[in-house]
Amino acid sequence: MKKQGLLIVVSGPSGTGKGTVCKALLAAHPEIAYSVSATTRSPREGEQNGVNYYFTEKAAFEKMIANGELLEWAEVYGNYYGTPLEKIQAKLSEGQDVLLELETHGAMKVKKQFPEGLYIYLVPPSLPELEKRIRGRGTETEESIARRLGAAATELEIGKHYSYVVVNDDVDRAVEHIAAILTAEHCRIERNIEFIDELEKGKGK
Ligand code: ADP
Ligand code: 5GP
Repeated sequence: MKKQGLLIVVSGPSGTGKGTVCKALLAAHPEIAYSVSATTRSPREGEQNGVNYYFTEKAAFEKMIANGELLEWAEVYGNYYGTPLEKIQAKLSEGQDVLLELETHGAMKVKKQFPEGLYIYLVPPSLPELEKRIRGRGTETEESIARRLGAAATELEIGKHYSYVVVNDDVDRAVEHIAAILTAEHCRIERNIEFIDELEKGKGK
């Protein structure tokens, strides 16, 4: 019997480096599936539909909500973001780990439905570094930068409800830490009871 895959949720204040770290994690661990979210925001340069997000019109997004197609959704900085439910459950049952990158409110909604998931909070090494990263990315207006920095304080408070915290001082190190958490989680006794039972059955054979 296949073990259920892990539901992995990564959150953190905007500009921390979630996108960068998740991309590097997936490149190093292609066995992990990424849950592509739907959003009403416009694509940033280099972003591809169906890869980074499903870029969706507001009316179509509202239809997805009405049809119950989303595991969770939230309005973030004036745009809708949501997690399509389809495929997540199937992948987990097939034993595949599924990675979700979500802001904190959406993540806490998912936690209610999947308390056994792995909730990882990615933080910047400092707030001045966070601001430097948001500005350095060059994708936000002054107003949007101010909003994201203002939200960071509340976001950090919600971060206390996560299972793990990873500091993104260096991308490779952050990826290493997340991979270590996943390895430990896969080795948990609760996740391996059936395997141990199988071994026991074979005793003396
Ligand atoms: P988020 O997805 O959390 O909003 P991004 O992945 O878009 O953040 O990263 C924000 C900016 O910070 C990008 O320009 C990215 O290249 C940069 N960045 C990410 N991680 C690091 C790091 N460890 N050190 C320095 N810069 C980083
Ligand atoms: P960005 O516009 O920078 O890509 O994302 C803005 C915020 O939306 C980030 O904090 C990101 O984690 C979050 N986000 C992305 N997809 C989803 C989703 O499906 N649901 C929720 N609740 N948040 C999401």
